[in-house]
Amino acid sequence: MSVPAPRSTRPPLLPLDEALAQLLGGVTSLGRTETVNTFDADGRVLAQELVSALQVPALDNSSMDGYAMRCADVRQAGMVLKVSQRIAAGSQEAGAGLRLAAGTVARIFTGAPIPPGADAVVPQEECEAMTEPDGHVRIQQIPMAGQWIRRAGEDVRKGTTVLHLGHRLNPASLGLAASIGFDRLRVAARPRVALFSTGDELVMPGEVAPAQMRPGAIYNSNRFFLRAMLQRLGCDVTDCGIVPDQRVATELALSSASESHDLILTSGGVSVGEEDHIKPAVQALGTLDLWQIAIKPGKPFAHGRVGSAHFIGLPGNPVSSFVTFMLLVRPVILKLQGATALDRSAIPTRASFNWKKPDRRREFLRVRRNASGELELFENQSSGVLTSSVWGDGLVDVAPGRVITAGEPVPYLPFAELL
Ligand code: AMP
Ligand code: MG
Repeated sequence: MSVPAPRSTRPPLLPLDEALAQLLGGVTSLGRTETVNTFDADGRVLAQELVSALQVPALDNSSMDGYAMRCADVRQAGMVLKVSQRIAAGSQEAGAGLRLAAGTVARIFTGAPIPPGADAVVPQEECEAMTEPDGHVRIQQIPMAGQWIRRAGEDVRKGTTVLHLGHRLNPASLGLAASIGFDRLRVAARPRVALFSTGDELVMPGEVAPAQMRPGAIYNSNRFFLRAMLQRLGCDVTDCGIVPDQRVATELALSSASESHDLILTSGGVSVGEEDHIKPAVQALGTLDLWQIAIKPGKPFAHGRVGSAHFIGLPGNPVSSFVTFMLLVRPVILKLQGATALDRSAIPTRASFNWKKPDRRREFLRVRRNASGELELFENQSSGVLTSSVWGDGLVDVAPGRVITAGEPVPYLPFAELL
């Protein structure tokens, strides 16, 4: 009996980290920038260093409504002192900085500058305004030097860089930019992305009513979440719809998209041996690498170039598409914008489930955090079940072959940080 020679039927699987490194190795920042109103800059990538021309706060100021005084004047509780000044935040006199006369206090409000000479604020709750004698106050507390004073420059020192080039702006950073006077910000231009779906089975919602769907037809769901995720990442998306089911038309659509886009993103039709036109069309127009990445969901993945545009082909299964977008496309889009933080590190979080049937591929399980902060597993981890991604609030990153026992910490990637 002859033994057949061993034959490799499966192409070698590429580890995710290697795939990502190779993919990012071929991507450089687009280098195009634009200036936008700070109000409109949320989510954009900063294309300048933001250096502060002033101190924040500009002056020592009170963090309480109360009375500013010299500690040396109040050595015991219950002392009565004359109110010699009134300093409200933003008032004309406030900036003038009239010196506090010895043995007197200044009525002061939150944010108002501390008068020269004063070294503490006693909150009004600890003071009693007097009518006899009028214009005096009883201080019920012995102040400690420096109390309730916010120091000049304690937030931002003049000359420091508060936000760096490549920072992806968020609501807090917009506030910080505004606090040092920036009403406009130079940011990376939006990457122009052409989005295509592939598959003859796809129907757009609204085109055909659910009851009228022909057997085998499915609604195009990927198009909706991919477009939304691209927009959240700052892209200017051209939705090119479903790619025409014809070789010549496909090539035309791709080559015309490549002229005015930085990235062409498709979903579907990258599985091995599939009959889609997208693969041969990309190969004819440019270059294409078909990868089998050692992850689940999301094994098939294609990338290459069409003209000067990058090309990325995601798998068609909705969850595969969703997960590979977050793991591989998100960093590409951020790098196109010159962002410095491309990666999210997983947070060790306790699992409340067992995972006893590990895969040889690295798995990304859809989970959600419960009220006690532990991760629960969605029961159906199939790559076609998009419900898992809505029920879940993140992914658990499971190393190949790893078994999980309830109670142990596992690497958790919240969706909120991946979008
Ligand atoms: P494919 O990668 O083209 O072999 O597709 C894998 C699976 O994903 C098939 O069941 C397709 O019907 C489904 N699929 C492909 N594209 C989409 C899409 N845009 N929306 C929803 N499902 C899709
Ligand atoms: Mg298909």
